[in-house]
Amino acid sequence: MTDPGTAPRRVSVVGGGPAGLMAAEVLARAGAAVTVFERMPTVGRKLQVAGRGGLNLTHSEPRAALLERYGPTRPRLAPAIERFDPAALRAWCEGLGEGTFVGSSGRVFPDGFRATALLRAWLRRLDGLGVEVRTRHTWLGWDADGAMAFQTGEGAHVVVTGDAWVLALGGASWPRTGSDGAWVAHLTGIGVDVAPLRPANCGFVVGWSDVFRGRFAGTPLKDVALRHRGATSRGDVVVTDHGIEGGPVYALAPGLRDAIDVAGEVHVRIDLFPDADPPTVVARLGRRRPKDSMATGLGRAGLAPVVVGLLREVTGNRLPAGTGDLARLLKALPVRLDAPMGIDRAISTAGGVSLDAVDHRFMLRDRPGTFVAGEMLDWEAPTGGYLLQAAFSTGVAAAEGVLDWLSTLDA
Ligand SMILES: Cc1cc2nc3c(=O)[nH]c(=O)nc-3n(C[C@H](O)[C@H](O)[C@H](O)COP(=O)(O)OP(=O)(O)OC[C@H]3O[C@@H](n4cnc5c(N)ncnc54)[C@H](O)[C@@H]3O)c2cc1C
Repeated sequence: MTDPGTAPRRVSVVGGGPAGLMAAEVLARAGAAVTVFERMPTVGRKLQVAGRGGLNLTHSEPRAALLERYGPTRPRLAPAIERFDPAALRAWCEGLGEGTFVGSSGRVFPDGFRATALLRAWLRRLDGLGVEVRTRHTWLGWDADGAMAFQTGEGAHVVVTGDAWVLALGGASWPRTGSDGAWVAHLTGIGVDVAPLRPANCGFVVGWSDVFRGRFAGTPLKDVALRHRGATSRGDVVVTDHGIEGGPVYALAPGLRDAIDVAGEVHVRIDLFPDADPPTVVARLGRRRPKDSMATGLGRAGLAPVVVGLLREVTGNRLPAGTGDLARLLKALPVRLDAPMGIDRAISTAGGVSLDAVDHRFMLRDRPGTFVAGEMLDWEAPTGGYLLQAAFSTGVAAAEGVLDWLSTLDA
């Protein structure tokens, strides 16, 4: 990209998460002079948080299935994900000295399981490539002359010019990691279409009684199936103080959230015996002995105390007397969800910069030379490594978009 004797192009990346740092790496490798601006004292904080429970980098399932996870945004994201696909992501990780492995569910993790070693090696590599990282720089949008404005940690106002920009400011979940969504106002202020930021991969609020909450908050409903409008997801659902959380809840979150938007509430059905058909459940309930109390009888049928508590909670303590009715209830227990949990507690964010506001290179149509990558774009996907995969892939795509755009200026 740089002819001998000419100054390298100056490209700034705003946001030091996986998308921004990946863009910085691609740009620096191509010879650009790259500066990363980050508001926090260190970069990659959400990546670190993501690594706490095991950094699920991507997923090993077949390509078509993986791309399906991006729902209606699949056509826009697929070229980026095919260009920098799970194999490329794993190879990149291995290049940083972190092998990867496929967990039992097909999810891919670094050998070190967490993000710390990977991030440390990555920052060393970026340093070696000459990438300058300026932390404690909060992006404030554009000034009247079209330059980028920042506030430093000391409160100073600085203005930065350059040849191209990559915005990779993340969503608005876990704002203490730095991603607070304040960028929305800066972009809508120049007319960019931004879909409202909403919680994704989030828990939902349930109006538990004090008794149920006090006894069961923190307890998992092990290996249940959740159903909503023909969609099913399976795994452990955790009862929390204010509702329910867990992988199966996150997986159904988009449909549940949209249903609540329309009706103010939604009922999700919990199948507490997903491997048993109703006659089998009836047979299990038949283990109850004549002198058993209801609780003892349900325990004999293999129902955990939290399941019995949930049955009582949902029915207002009026359990059906007949085993057939009880079995039907256990196969489809309706739990009313009142609202998604707040975005600050969600794993990820739905909404963001409209994919129609950027071209195929992820360049803002209204602001040539400014590209957008990562979670701040309007897509969503379930947990399982799909979030980081898309953040990394769009980081690569935006950087390559910058290089392509700069080459047309050079021509
Ligand atoms: C608890 C948790 C667990 C997760 N686990 C996984 C997982 O296992 N697998 C997976 O695929 N995904 C996981 N995710 C999601 C994943 O971490 C994100 O999707 C990913 O980090 C998004 O990358 P990004 O670069 O787009 O944004 P971010 O990582 O959010 O980075 C954006 C950066 O921009 C900076 N920034 C924001 N505003 C400004 C500003 N005005 N000026 C300057 N800098 C700014 C922020 O400080 C931040 O460093 C998890 C998320 C959470 C919260």
